[in-house]
Amino acid sequence: MGDFVDAVESVIRHVQESKDTVLAIEPLLRSLVTDPDWLNEKYRRAISAKAYAQYLLYRPADRAFSVVSFVWNPGQGSPIHDHCTWGVIGQYEGEEEESRFRILDNRLERIAVVLARPGDVSHVYPPSRDIHQITNRSATPTISIHIYGGDIGSQRRHTYDPNTAAMQEFISGYDAPDLLPPRTDWKAQEA
Ligand code: FE
Repeated sequence: MGDFVDAVESVIRHVQESKDTVLAIEPLLRSLVTDPDWLNEKYRRAISAKAYAQYLLYRPADRAFSVVSFVWNPGQGSPIHDHCTWGVIGQYEGEEEESRFRILDNRLERIAVVLARPGDVSHVYPPSRDIHQITNRSATPTISIHIYGGDIGSQRRHTYDPNTAAMQEFISGYDAPDLLPPRTDWKAQEA
């Protein structure tokens, strides 16, 4: 994780366009999510009362980016939502369905449905590739690792009504914020 964070920091300090940023980060995230032993047990726990848990794994002091693990309960999914920043998604455990949307004539049009398998990576960025929905249609919890520009837990963004495309602002926060590890935590894990 330390090497991964260093590499991401190098990308975001040197690359300007969101499209170039996500393409540069995708292979870095693919390496991370193809290591089955990498993620600590405390960031793999589903929360039974919620559709999904989101744990902050890393955030630099200037909050230029954030790394989050999402743990999805069986049969659960997100609302249709945007991010208002770039993001890279890596599938870690299990398979998740991702639907992509665009707004056309004040309605949502589903433009793609993709099944992400372990090791698969994808990305989002506004305005053209920012609206999606993730669903775990399997019988066991699934885990994906997401990296976003800025601090996604405090980012103002939107959910969308599937029928009317009406937007509603939300701020996601993080689950179990007491678990936020200092960077040294990753160094310790790797030692
Ligand atoms: Fe998302």
